[in-house]
Amino acid sequence: MSNIDGKLISSKIREEIKADVKNYMIKPCLAVIQIGDDEASNIYVNSKEKACNEVGIYLKHIKFDETTREIEIINKIIELNNDEYVHGILLQLPIPDKFNEEKLINYIARNKDVDGLTDINVGKLINNKKCFVSCTPQGIIKLLQESNVEISGKNVVIVGRSKLVGKPLMSLFLNNDATVTICHSKTKNLKEFTKNADILVVAAGCKHLITEDMVKDGSVVIDVGINRVDGKIYGDVDYENVKKKASLITPVPGGVGPMTVAMLLNNVNISYKNMTNK
Ligand code: NAD
Repeated sequence: MSNIDGKLISSKIREEIKADVKNYMIKPCLAVIQIGDDEASNIYVNSKEKACNEVGIYLKHIKFDETTREIEIINKIIELNNDEYVHGILLQLPIPDKFNEEKLINYIARNKDVDGLTDINVGKLINNKKCFVSCTPQGIIKLLQESNVEISGKNVVIVGRSKLVGKPLMSLFLNNDATVTICHSKTKNLKEFTKNADILVVAAGCKHLITEDMVKDGSVVIDVGINRVDGKIYGDVDYENVKKKASLITPVPGGVGPMTVAMLLNNVNISYKNMTNK
């Protein structure tokens, strides 16, 4: 087996973006809207800011108090939509329960929706039209392409059907001519499906859900899971044992994670080019 090195592949992408941005008259700008003071969200926004800074993208952090009225957030999104110096807008998830996540996301202009979560972009993805696609699924396809893994005609099994990972990934694989099975928490006898996968992607959020006996010899295994247990990070795949059977496998950390941020930067760069006719 060999590892798919997400750190290496993502750093190549970041270098390409950095080289592009150097030639721009103005800095591309990503607006990140955060509501409340969720500890994990603070960390994620900081790491996005650091990644943006490294390639020359300005991250505009707009933080609302949990007591803010929804209309104020909607008005801010509309203002950002109309701001020609803002090239990407994202709502940092999760947001407090009292807000309607779907409603807020759908106020983001589709041409600035760098997280690819608006209904318009999701619909376009299903119809295989040019659009912004959710960053983690996009990063997974890029990892496979960069590792010369053929997707067309392959049996792909995805464990997890979230709107952030599983569902958009299903469309991306279908658009690349794979035969796709999507499993979830109600799937009976998961192993029956995973055993048939040429490419297995696991995004369930369950530490070591996938064990050696559940994968096919020579398969490609992509582990999206991030599970923090006693201060350590584990994937959804029992890496040490599954690696004996897989031909290629992503480690956690260092696999899919770095690709997610790289694809976000890439989407902001694409949006900048679209908006400035570069
Ligand atoms: P989610 O909770 O929204 O969805 C989890 C999905 O997994 C659901 O569809 C559920 O039905 C399915 N599932 C849960 N338990 C299962 C089981 N025992 N068997 C089969 N299916 C099961 O989660 P998400 O946002 O899609 O994230 C999934 C995991 O990926 C989490 O660990 C998350 O932290 C991680 N993640 C990582 C990145 C990254 O950049 N590496 C990005 C997004 C999410």
